[in-house]
Amino acid sequence: MADSPPDSPAGPPPSKLTQEHRDRIQRWSDEKIKDTKSCGCPLCGSKNWTLLEDFVAPANFSRNGGLLLGGKVYPHFMLICDVCGNVQFINAIRAGVLDKDPEK
Ligand SMILES: [Zn+2]
Repeated sequence: MADSPPDSPAGPPPSKLTQEHRDRIQRWSDEKIKDTKSCGCPLCGSKNWTLLEDFVAPANFSRNGGLLLGGKVYPHFMLICDVCGNVQFINAIRAGVLDKDPEK
């Protein structure tokens, strides 16, 4: 039995973080938040975070109501608190993990 439909491209889904992304996130963490007072979970105070596997982007909201498909996207990576499950979304471009314009 096949693991994926026959028309799926080979390899992991393009939303998955690569090792290079994980290395960039580690550098961001070391430079921006490691050992700061604010690196604990804002809900429970734990400093134990796990990096989730995918980039995500919140859907844009139309001023007329409902979701707006297309247009700008704001890619994020996610850190989940190991104690309470709170999820922090970090903008991947601002953090230097993704290039602003990957086509160039
Ligand atoms: Zn927490």
